[in-house]
Amino acid sequence: MSEVDALFQRAAAVAAAYRHGLGDRPVRAEASLDELRAAFARPLPDGPLPADRVLDELVAAADPGLVQTAGGRFFGFVIGGSYPLAVAADMVAAGWDQCAYNGVLTPAGQAAEEAAGTWLKDLLGLPPTASVGFVAGGQEANTVGLAAGRHHVLAEAGWDVEADGLAGAPPVRVVAGAERHATIDRALRLLGLGTNALEPVAVDHDGALRADALADVLAARPPGPVIVCLQVGNVNTGACDPLRDAIEAAHDHGAWVHVDGAFGLWAAASPRTRHLVDGLEGADSWGCDGHKWLNLPYDSGFAFCSRPAVHATAVRYSAPYLTGSGTDALAMSDFTLQSSRRARGFSTWALLRHLGRTGVADVVDHLCAMARRAADGLAAGGARIANQVALNMVLADFGDDGTNAAIAAAVQDEGTAWLATTDWQGRRLLRLSLSSWSTTEADIDAAVASILRHAAAAPRTPLVPGTRSEP
Ligand SMILES: *Cc1c(COP(=O)(O)O)cnc(C)c1O
Repeated sequence: MSEVDALFQRAAAVAAAYRHGLGDRPVRAEASLDELRAAFARPLPDGPLPADRVLDELVAAADPGLVQTAGGRFFGFVIGGSYPLAVAADMVAAGWDQCAYNGVLTPAGQAAEEAAGTWLKDLLGLPPTASVGFVAGGQEANTVGLAAGRHHVLAEAGWDVEADGLAGAPPVRVVAGAERHATIDRALRLLGLGTNALEPVAVDHDGALRADALADVLAARPPGPVIVCLQVGNVNTGACDPLRDAIEAAHDHGAWVHVDGAFGLWAAASPRTRHLVDGLEGADSWGCDGHKWLNLPYDSGFAFCSRPAVHATAVRYSAPYLTGSGTDALAMSDFTLQSSRRARGFSTWALLRHLGRTGVADVVDHLCAMARRAADGLAAGGARIANQVALNMVLADFGDDGTNAAIAAAVQDEGTAWLATTDWQGRRLLRLSLSSWSTTEADIDAAVASILRHAAAAPRTPLVPGTRSEP
């Protein structure tokens, strides 16, 4: 066996053994960060070490510090679990070492992205003519969408922001729901629009923007450049802004509409949840993640734009040495902020071909069902469920903030599952995000049992069992 064969087979074997062992280890890391620092902080060798030895050292050092996000009982953040086929496709992509800059550098990479992009637009109900950038994630997708919006609304006002910057430009209003994701604020900082430009719009009980309040905010100032940021999939509740009415109100004021749908956009892929994102095709740009609900490996997101030329004008660049760039034909990198990147189209194409239309709808439906199962189990055990569980998010309350935090810490420490708390409407609540394809009913039941066991042990203000908050 050649050295390359031995190394690659060993790497695949390590990854497979890890996957098989997921259920047998605590979901949290077993070693502390300081222990891991000590394991990695070896002296830099003066010369080369054998590759096989170093691979084994890496595995030995890292393994105790792995968090089992690839398994079915990690419910923190919004964390997909990566399907085995998608991981395999990414392993092959790493072996091929293609740089997804343009079709000269990797014709295969560009063709895969184009085909996968067409499928994604079809699954999500986006205009077939929209452009797609295969970006690193929701943050990059939101930044690209808002850059396109910034270009468009200023060009309409006769200002060339790419050439002249923002100093002296007509002011750009940015209007967004009060419960927008924090990456919108970071994108506004990076784009020079500034967070003080934000005009927050009142939201409903679950954090969805109110379309009537949006119309009022828009009408409060004379017409001019304005970007409206909408959201589908609030990180705490899963709530979706009322897209059809909000987009209509925004377009009545000549606004550019960006939709942050990092995980919630996947509601469009199932007939059962599609109504939650009704009207989404009317927006101007959309951000979505592959590494959350679709369960692609990190890092993978999609930046869609209804006007490909606007999308490219806002983010593309070229240089004489970059063969094949700067032509009229748009290339992959004209739609992203990275020049050199992994060919993300390979794993996306492979996973969509593997799941098919019904397979994608099934994973959407499955995680909604798992969220309802968790909510029902917790409510039956005495928790108040603080949100409408229409998608994959559950907020649970055992009476007081300290109790909720103590329960989350105890469940994490026990290792049965991993969940955390969040701030919601002035309270600290338990928060579960159901995002991994591999979560089973047994995983939910084990997590619920652990939560209820620790809740019973914690001193708290009793609630009426099974109470749910008003819609
Ligand atoms: C996760 C998330 C983001 C950020 O996505 P990354 O892939 O982590 O960059 C943005 N918006 C929403 C609603 C999210 O859930």
